[in-house]
Amino acid sequence: MVIGYKPGTTADRRRPHFIRTPEEADQLVLDSACITNLSGYLVSEGLLSDEKAVAIFLKPDGIRSINILAAEAQLNIDQILILGFDINDNQVTALEGEKVEEFATLIESIKEQAPDALKNPLLEKIEGMTPKERFTFWQKEFSRCIKCYACRQACPMCYCRRCIVDCNQPQWVNTSSHTLGNFEWNIVRAFHLSGRCVGCGNCDRACPVNIPLRLINAKMAQEVLGSFDHFAGMSHTQEPVLASFKKDDSETFIL
Ligand code: SF4
Ligand code: SF4
Repeated sequence: MVIGYKPGTTADRRRPHFIRTPEEADQLVLDSACITNLSGYLVSEGLLSDEKAVAIFLKPDGIRSINILAAEAQLNIDQILILGFDINDNQVTALEGEKVEEFATLIESIKEQAPDALKNPLLEKIEGMTPKERFTFWQKEFSRCIKCYACRQACPMCYCRRCIVDCNQPQWVNTSSHTLGNFEWNIVRAFHLSGRCVGCGNCDRACPVNIPLRLINAKMAQEVLGSFDHFAGMSHTQEPVLASFKKDDSETFIL
């Protein structure tokens, strides 16, 4: 199988294309609208269960996802053939390499640029607020959340068969769409994605009420990079940041 993109419902949208026959390849498109990180389909659709290889079109964020999914034992990298590409100034360029290890140098250079790339004027404005102003800002943003969980469904890193919010005995996260329930959901999700989010933007684009999830993702990525020198998706053997420690960690967070 090859997983790529085909035309979507509007001229500027693309949808996943699962190619099983040569004829199906006729619909394949690759252009600057192919922005969705497709890596989640590898695990959510059980496509690797027959142990056959799958080729998949991925941008650098998707290639980092493959590393995380492999590090978390969700897939076998030997089954994945990467058709790498990137989009800059609306131009698509092919990336050299096929196996995930071959993109290590590229990912290293993305990590070096991350401190600048993760900056965002609105994020800096929020950081300049008082805690009370910041709380009010997020309370207002989260008040629009309708608990549709589209952000979860679109995220390649949200692969749990049964999400904590779908569990009602005990009910860890309030399912109602009110201030407490919305804070619980969005904060639990932010921590769950800490050190795992690759910044692909799938969640942000999926949110039907335009909550700026990218700001939360960028902030958490800044924190784990600054505090632990951890950049998500560096390799398929990278240890998860919240499940590992180094002896020289500063431990400034321990009271
Ligand atoms: S949290 Fe959002 S930006 Fe991060 S990996 Fe998941 S879908 Fe992509
Ligand atoms: S996609 Fe948006 S509205 Fe839906 S649960 Fe996520 S944050 Fe809430």
